[in-house]
Amino acid sequence: SKAKLYDENSQVKVSFKDVAGLEGAKEEVEEIVQFLKSPEKYTRLGGKIPKGALLIGPPGTGKTLLAKAVAGEAQVPFFSLSGSDFVEMFVGVGASRVRDLFKNAKEKSPSIIFIDEIDAIGRARGKNNMTGGNDERENTLNQLLTEMDGFDTDTNVIVMAATNRADILDSALMRAGRFDRRIYVDLPEIHERKEIFKVHTKNLKIKETLDLEFLARQTPGFSGADIANICNEAALIAARKGKDAIDRQDFLDAVDRIIGGLEKKGKLIK
Ligand code: ATP
Repeated sequence: SKAKLYDENSQVKVSFKDVAGLEGAKEEVEEIVQFLKSPEKYTRLGGKIPKGALLIGPPGTGKTLLAKAVAGEAQVPFFSLSGSDFVEMFVGVGASRVRDLFKNAKEKSPSIIFIDEIDAIGRARGKNNMTGGNDERENTLNQLLTEMDGFDTDTNVIVMAATNRADILDSALMRAGRFDRRIYVDLPEIHERKEIFKVHTKNLKIKETLDLEFLARQTPGFSGADIANICNEAALIAARKGKDAIDRQDFLDAVDRIIGGLEKKGKLIK
């Protein structure tokens, strides 16, 4: 059987409830949900529905989660691909993968295409000559631009892409009619961290007296992904100790462990 060149998930279960905080970003993508659900409502005065939206923000802040939630809320299929998959690709494969992806998304429209780490293919052209250039990456980028220009707005496929390096993207990607919406997804503030802790402890046995606000205060600079990690670690630590419920100390131990991991990876700047 022919291996799929991209991920397709027709039954996305993620909804906006799963995305904690990010109120501004959620409001902006809510509009995309409406475009997918009832495009006629928006185009009746001659306006065109945007083709693409770029989610910009640091790693682990919920960009992929948010894109999935859009598909889940609109109940449309979710096609995804990561830019980093293209880094070491044989000639011609990148462009054909992109072609294949758009063909399938169009067949199943309305649908969402999600391209994670778009900077890996969408870096400004001609800026990598120092490293000997990369024609295949350029072919892939050109194919992506061609596909986005090729579908007219009544195709009802919306392309969402994520990056933490919007500054290095090729300006062609940002041109009108391509990724003309930009949505910022930042590291969570204290009240958002509390919400993220709430989402990720929902299915855990935590002690009733556990103060999520306290945990939010202990975790400045942590991303949603880090917090999800802490919650899981805390559950494992408490279980190992034979406890019936996870308490404050387990969470603090988990925070220490995650900080240790981040320091090793050189991710922590504090
Ligand atoms: P990357 O840039 O590294 O791909 P990302 O911004 O796409 O990261 P996600 O993959 O969406 O981040 O987040 C990873 C996981 O972290 C999510 O699956 C979720 O469990 C958790 N998470 C991140 N942000 C949030 C949030 N705002 N609310 C709830 N969970 C979150």
